[in-house]
Amino acid sequence: MSIRLNIFAPIRPKVVEKILNPLVKGSVSTREASAKAMFSEFYRMREDIFLRKEKLGKEAVVTKEELEDLFEKVTPKIPLDINIFTPVKNGPGGTFHVQTDWSCRIVEGYELNIQFPNNKEYIKKSDFDSMETLDHESCHFFKAITEPKYTVRNISIKLPFNVRRQKSYYYNTYLYQNELKKTFILKKKFLQNKEPARIDNVKKGINKFFNKNKFSSLVKVEMLQDWRLGLKDEIAAWNQGLKSYIEFRFPLNELTKKLQNGKELKLKDYARDSKKTHTFLDKSKRFNSKQYKTLDEKIQALNSFVVELKDWKCKAVIDDILFLNNKKQIVEEFLAQEIAKVRAKQKELVERGSK
Ligand SMILES: [Zn+2]
Repeated sequence: MSIRLNIFAPIRPKVVEKILNPLVKGSVSTREASAKAMFSEFYRMREDIFLRKEKLGKEAVVTKEELEDLFEKVTPKIPLDINIFTPVKNGPGGTFHVQTDWSCRIVEGYELNIQFPNNKEYIKKSDFDSMETLDHESCHFFKAITEPKYTVRNISIKLPFNVRRQKSYYYNTYLYQNELKKTFILKKKFLQNKEPARIDNVKKGINKFFNKNKFSSLVKVEMLQDWRLGLKDEIAAWNQGLKSYIEFRFPLNELTKKLQNGKELKLKDYARDSKKTHTFLDKSKRFNSKQYKTLDEKIQALNSFVVELKDWKCKAVIDDILFLNNKKQIVEEFLAQEIAKVRAKQKELVERGSK
């Protein structure tokens, strides 16, 4: 029998058992699909709430209680707290947390913190920023319960408390949201930087952090793994959240019906929050039904317009603004280097031992 030297924080079966739930089954792709299905179900039921209220002539809002009820229906028996996030000066915000009992290293529940404007316990359908935040954070929740890899790593990670804190602080402040935290002018300047300069910036930052703190390669591997999974989760949540954002603003069924009724679509029909969407929709990217002769052509063009817009929006936010795919790649490069160092060291130890 050989003892495998596992350097990557072995996961204790008990820990896994506590987080895994009946919702986590099957291969990675099956679980990915079930997270998406949960989100779609959540989205559909929320639309029903709005529709019901609109039919009654009431304002389309979703209350905190209704949200709790929705999550209870989509993910029964999974403890989730929904909290009100006091509005912040810098715009909308939201966070997702896994509630952990660190002494036992078990997951006790989950927490969604969403900004509800004016501190009222509901979100208006027309409050796009809060709706977008809700969708994004919900995606994190559905992913966390169906693909608990990141959560498992986080609670089984064998790093001292202060190192864990440094790891999270660096990720939150410098890695994930680096450019968002800057002042408007600095942010604009940063975004104007060409890709190589931005890549260089991220690399320099990580090197500086590692050099300053003199972590061992083993610790660096733990940190980098954590960051990699964090960025991966972020990319997935943005992707799905942004797609629903577009679906919300460009309700295909509604717009198709309008076309079928012989009406032309105006910009305000398909760009519901004109202020924000217009910055993304330059003239070439707008949909203009007058360009097409037959109804079929119009409907087809509208459909491909929405598909294109989704891809374009995801690229604009994930790659251009947040620079997430590039950051993930950089972290992976650092990770490969540190793993190679750890392996070389292990090999050296084994060879020395066998002499
Ligand atoms: Zn996120």
